[in-house]
Amino acid sequence: MQYPEPIAQLIDSYTKLPGIGQKSATRLAFFTLGMDEEDVTGFAQALIAAKRDLHFCSICGNITESDPCVICADPTRDQTEVLVVEQAKDVMAMENTREYHGLYHVLHGVLSPLEGKGPDDINIASLVTRLQTNEAITEVIVATNANSEGEATAMYLSRLLKPAGIKVTRLAHGLAVGSDIDYADEMTLIKAVEGRTEL
Ligand SMILES: [Zn+2]
Repeated sequence: MQYPEPIAQLIDSYTKLPGIGQKSATRLAFFTLGMDEEDVTGFAQALIAAKRDLHFCSICGNITESDPCVICADPTRDQTEVLVVEQAKDVMAMENTREYHGLYHVLHGVLSPLEGKGPDDINIASLVTRLQTNEAITEVIVATNANSEGEATAMYLSRLLKPAGIKVTRLAHGLAVGSDIDYADEMTLIKAVEGRTEL
């Protein structure tokens, strides 16, 4: 027996989310059917609004409603440092510490030879352009995650940027190997930035 078309479509939509297989999608679809209509409408509207109203900042790649984003547009931020992260959510994690006052650059991924992801597949070209056109920036702090792909990306950036006279540093790893910066607690992140080492 097949599910009625609307629920089959809902299940199909849930399977497009990361880590959601057919079984989880079916469970979520039936859960959704049991929700209040008001909550379901709010959920659907939030999905549409997030996609419609949010963009990537043309300078740093962060998620933003305005372009440039509030961080890039803020003249009181330290214009000499750029902290490079994998995902926009890492910017939030770092901002929550309230201890970092420089700028950011979001790569939207890491180099991953196994997944066929090279430098052209992540947001590196715009970082190079940014450094070429903005002479105020003297240091790039690589805050990719502490796993092999994060390390390989840090080494690549170091080799790419150092010849241009940019100081390239890496977060100190009080962060456990394999840990993601958006899961690190705030004190650990603060210490990791303070104890950063030159690559
Ligand atoms: Zn920005």
